[in-house]
Amino acid sequence: HHIVEVKNLRHVYPDGTAALSDISFRITHGESVAIIGANGAGKSTLLLHLNGYLAPTAGEIRIGDFPMNKATLPEIRRTVGMVFQDPDDQLFMPTVYDDVAFGPLNLGLFGAEVEQRVMDALQRVGAVHLQEKAPYHLSGGEKKRVAIATVLSMSPDILVMDEPTNGLDPFARRQLMGLLKDFHHTKIFTSHDLDMVLELCERTIILNQGEVKADGPTREIFQNE
Ligand code: ADP
Ligand code: ADP
Repeated sequence: HHIVEVKNLRHVYPDGTAALSDISFRITHGESVAIIGANGAGKSTLLLHLNGYLAPTAGEIRIGDFPMNKATLPEIRRTVGMVFQDPDDQLFMPTVYDDVAFGPLNLGLFGAEVEQRVMDALQRVGAVHLQEKAPYHLSGGEKKRVAIATVLSMSPDILVMDEPTNGLDPFARRQLMGLLKDFHHTKIFTSHDLDMVLELCERTIILNQGEVKADGPTREIFQNE
């Protein structure tokens, strides 16, 4: 049974740019999938469809048992945790703690359960010591880790990340890779960091000008390129 199904996805931006032509793939529960390709290939556009931030021009997306549409969007947003490329797009509360608590509170949780989820998420990204800080004042790498914690605290079944190691120093990058290895649910991310892809993703999809150019086991894909 597939947890993600993308069928004949097409996306044309309002200015006429056809960012995705006709994309199809399916992802099995627990798979770890990299989406790679040159700048402008359509990677970000594709990710933004996976929790409904963009709606398809044509084609269909299913997440678990839900076909994506307006009615299922709230359920899908609980299932798919999205880490944006720019952490400033997801940090907006006065403190780090509040930002990481926002998701669980939104799920209707409260009290000790929220606190435990926040502390667990902060610990996994190595940011417990930042909890009282204003996200605004953090370094780029710290912001990135906190942005990831805001998603982990919601316990998503699917973790979607756009260029997760972008802007991280080597130590923070290592730490993030360890964290992702320990995340045993489905992972989908774009990356230019091919070493990370080799280490973390059993499967790689190459996009080229809005089309799937290759899709298969990462080692085979890398050998053929
Ligand atoms: P990637 O993430 O692989 O770099 P993108 O999905 O960001 O690729 O972009 C795919 C194509 O869509 C590019 O040609 C890009 O210029 C274009 N594009 C991205 N965002 C927009 C937008 N908001 N409006 C118009 N064109 C866009
Ligand atoms: P808008 O208010 O911008 O016209 P809608 O009300 O049509 O957007 O949709 C609200 C949200 O649901 C948007 O974020 C949109 O991306 C998403 N959405 C709507 N329909 C679909 C669909 N068929 N597939 C994926 N996402 C969708």
